Amino acid sequence: MRWLHDISRVLPVNRDPEIRDEAGIDTVVLHCTAMPGWNVWETARYHTSSNHISPDGCPTIGYAYFVEPDGLMYRCLPRAVRSWHVGPWNDRAIGVCLAYDAGEEAPPDEQLEAAADLCADLVRELGLEPRRVLGHRELEGTGVVVEGGRMVQRKECPGKAIDMDRFRRMVADALERPGGAGVKDA
Ligand SMILES: [Zn+2]
Repeated sequence: MRWLHDISRVLPVNRDPEIRDEAGIDTVVLHCTAMPGWNVWETARYHTSSNHISPDGCPTIGYAYFVEPDGLMYRCLPRAVRSWHVGPWNDRAIGVCLAYDAGEEAPPDEQLEAAADLCADLVRELGLEPRRVLGHRELEGTGVVVEGGRMVQRKECPGKAIDMDRFRRMVADALERPGGAGVKDA
């Protein structure tokens, strides 16, 4: 059993978020903080202040879920919030962020397993397939872009040490466990 801690009502917010139709969500996106030691609070403060995405700051944290290295998991936003994390995909994508610096070393297994369980639970609740769990770097128009007729890798997020095919297998395995992924609201 894994507990999902809802901190959506206490995280810093910059302004009222845009609201979307949850039924339009067809993609779960894995991200990383790419900052050594940043937790969910530092990430939310960065997103809601003047930053690389917007000089006015984003309305809210970009990620609906956040997973710490020890597997502790947070709900940061209701699913209906259209947050800013993947540009042209923001209407249809929901973000899961790892507290991970995207270095040469892969994240701890405990963190990846927790994130896979969380993604499995999301996939099940949203009626999607594990193949709809994508790394930020895999999304065309934000992770990869076409420039001059060529595909150019713009982002490495969630980090090149994470094998997204292996992660999707972990999600599929979690879905097949008796009783499912076992994520519960704390
Ligand atoms: Zn990302």
